[in-house]
Amino acid sequence: MADISRRTAIQALAAAGLTPVILRSMPSGPNAEERKGAAGLVLKEIRDGLWWLSDGAYNTMFLVSSQGVIAIDPLPTLGARYLESVSKVTDRPITHVVYSHEHLDHIGAANLFPKSAAIVAQSETAAILRQRQDPRRPPPTTTFGERFVLNVGEQTLHLEYKGVNHSPGNLFIYAPKQRVLMLVDVIYPGYVPYPGLGVAADVPGYIDAHRQALSYDFTEFIGGHVDRIGSRADVERSLEFALDLKRASEEALAEKPFPAFLGEHPEQATGSTWFAHDDYETDRVDRCYKQLIPKWAPILRGAERSLRSHCRTMIVALAIQMPPDRGQSVQKEGRS
Ligand SMILES: [Zn+2]
Repeated sequence: MADISRRTAIQALAAAGLTPVILRSMPSGPNAEERKGAAGLVLKEIRDGLWWLSDGAYNTMFLVSSQGVIAIDPLPTLGARYLESVSKVTDRPITHVVYSHEHLDHIGAANLFPKSAAIVAQSETAAILRQRQDPRRPPPTTTFGERFVLNVGEQTLHLEYKGVNHSPGNLFIYAPKQRVLMLVDVIYPGYVPYPGLGVAADVPGYIDAHRQALSYDFTEFIGGHVDRIGSRADVERSLEFALDLKRASEEALAEKPFPAFLGEHPEQATGSTWFAHDDYETDRVDRCYKQLIPKWAPILRGAERSLRSHCRTMIVALAIQMPPDRGQSVQKEGRS
């Protein structure tokens, strides 16, 4: 059934002229808009059979070998257009589908992909998907804990799990021959993250993920979102933003602890002290925002839209998740 719906969808897209623009080995840069096809899709070979596929808001990659194709993240915003893009550049079958993590917005077209393909994901992703019982993202057929090396023909992909960051099970996906790293929903090249630090499930893990990413030998970075391929400099800039945000949030809390705020606003305590706590966080978010916006608005797009959300997420994380001396513990792990 999947094959029939795929063929029908491809024929319909071809009839409508909605075929992706194909670019082979062009330099990466921020001008993806110039290269969009009629459907807003960009299909670009990074190098050596590794292809980047983007609709401008979401992106992913697939790896072509002489024996078959490894397709990462069957994006529902692309749906059958993903399959059509693969068939534009190879007649090899899709033999493997890799889930970066369990979120529907990145893997929700998995049911359109060939049933014969193995689905590979980390075991925590598999456990969550068993709970979801969502026919759009069937459970993986191959799972692993910390590391899995996927060899298809002459191509290799390293899948590694280093703990919860954006979500449990979120993978570092590394193509060693092409020197390309993919990590989804953590780093947004050129932009501040999606609100709430990209809806980070674990903020200490979110910060660590930047350093873990930088431990790879990569030249291109695929983040799952925005309109261009990233670089090491984008990852470094995102880390600097996260550390600045942590510092500003710590200072905002230290400058005025909650009891001091209550002392300044006794009228709120006579109403509801619980609401006063919400007012307190809003007051501290404002302090964090005013400190960071002059520096970051010119550097990362979207700061005016979502910096307050990031301040609040970090302030809450400092209250409920953040261990002391996190930076030191990461350095220790790196040395061992
Ligand atoms: Zn996600």
